[in-house]
Amino acid sequence: MDDPIESLAGAIADAERVVALTGAGVSTASGIPSFRGEGGIWEQFDQRDFHYRRFNADPGGFWRDRLDLRDAFYGDSEVEPNGAHHALAELEREGYLEAVVTQNVDGLHAAAGSETVVELHGTNREAECVECGRRLPAETAFERAAEGELPPRCEGCGGVLKPAVVLFGESMPDEPTIRAHELAGRSDLFLAVGSSLQVQPAAGLPARAQRSGATLAVVNLEATPLSDRADYDLRADVTELLPALVEALE
Ligand SMILES: [Zn+2]
Repeated sequence: MDDPIESLAGAIADAERVVALTGAGVSTASGIPSFRGEGGIWEQFDQRDFHYRRFNADPGGFWRDRLDLRDAFYGDSEVEPNGAHHALAELEREGYLEAVVTQNVDGLHAAAGSETVVELHGTNREAECVECGRRLPAETAFERAAEGELPPRCEGCGGVLKPAVVLFGESMPDEPTIRAHELAGRSDLFLAVGSSLQVQPAAGLPARAQRSGATLAVVNLEATPLSDRADYDLRADVTELLPALVEALE
């Protein structure tokens, strides 16, 4: 049993409560553009235009810029879940995985069929009324913005709509973070996938799980700050490794 994938599969099969944390590495394989770095979104757009402060001061202008950003980076291409998303959904269906906690905002875990998903930073798939909290598909809000409704408003109460993601400068919602810490704290195997484990609150979750006695597995292309103390440290393409893990469990 020297094969690390077989060995990790065995640990997952033996564990009672497995929780996964996913980061950008899971999304980039689906063609979600990266924001930072060379060729990233912030080389072409001014990050300040998308701040929470800007949204509050000028929601119409914010939505117009948001529409430009969306057209520039996504166009008409449909973003689909990849092998990593499907593997995690499969692990949950088979009863191996309790929940996915994600730093990603693309909604692809749910699209792949994962049912228990905690989105730490909200979701780009929906828009939310700032007054009454009513939600609708983000696509509907974008369509209305494209037709000149700037900002798009809630059909229930007339309040301004906001993408249901945490904007720069906006405080994180408490509920998902609390839930993620609870899940991590009572997990007995914590699987960090495609996350650089450098951004809070996600970075604190594996440590929390380990303090509570959980086995820690880190799967990422590059080393992370927690790789040295992980029980399993697998440097691999997550879209290949997770399906292999599912196969090893069959
Ligand atoms: Zn409303």
